[in-house]
Amino acid sequence: MSANTPARKTIPTPLREGTLDADNLLVEAEYGPPIRVLPDVNVLKVGGQSFFDRGRAAVAPLVEEIAACAKTHQLLIGMGGGTRSRHAYSLGLELGLPTGILAAMGASTALQNAHLMQMLLAKHGGILTSFEEFEKLPLYLRVGCIPIMVGMPPFHHWERPPETGRIPANRTDAGVFLMAEFLGARSMIYIKDEDGLYTDDPKKNRDAKFIPRITAQELLDMDPNDLVLERVVLGYLLKAHHVRSVQIVNGLKSGYLTRALAGEHVGTIISAE
Ligand code: ADP
Ligand code: MG
Repeated sequence: MSANTPARKTIPTPLREGTLDADNLLVEAEYGPPIRVLPDVNVLKVGGQSFFDRGRAAVAPLVEEIAACAKTHQLLIGMGGGTRSRHAYSLGLELGLPTGILAAMGASTALQNAHLMQMLLAKHGGILTSFEEFEKLPLYLRVGCIPIMVGMPPFHHWERPPETGRIPANRTDAGVFLMAEFLGARSMIYIKDEDGLYTDDPKKNRDAKFIPRITAQELLDMDPNDLVLERVVLGYLLKAHHVRSVQIVNGLKSGYLTRALAGEHVGTIISAE
């Protein structure tokens, strides 16, 4: 710094030196882990294609089960987009559109399901909650409401470039995971139409074996052709502070969600370690 350079006005902070991309991880570690924002909340993702698109026969019993569980547990629901998202993605891909707009469309189809779910849960306290209202979650949960949100993360046009192709890698499984991690949620439960994770898609391979428990790293190393959960979630699980495991339960089987909320090992548990 030359003698003539005016002194920079600074606020004292250990992060002042260097860029935030430098090897300052040690400095950051001094701050310790983040707090749990809403430690009692259980984040549920209701599968779009796997579950909600099955209509009344599947959805009505689950709505009753969710309503009963909400009497003793704080629940926050993220909705998947289902087959309509896939239709929107394929149209967008054919039209040559980039990932960001596909992600935005994914959010709008998930919003349709969030609207439907809110109506079904309205009499039990279901309210549609947007990301702008995130800070009101404590109020909604305190008065016994069941906030229902779009599962898609609000990356929209800023969706990260996927490893391959143009379909957004961060869809609704990832969105609810990131939300649960931010909130420091008590649990992250995925409600789908299979008992959990298998060695292969059980709908296509009758020899697929059920996997009751596995670590994210073991599953990444296994690198199966297809997964019950978006692949990016496994990477997030490895980095998460709070959500150290996720559970996948079969929503078509009555009582499984209740048992998972009670801490029982039903379905598949994928853990960070
Ligand atoms: P959602 O609608 O909740 O996003 P998806 O349809 O994307 O759910 O994913 C769930 C589906 O994944 C299951 O219905 C199952 O047929 C399929 N699947 C693919 N691979 C596997 C696997 N290895 N284990 C279990 N299910 C799998
Ligand atoms: Mg999916």
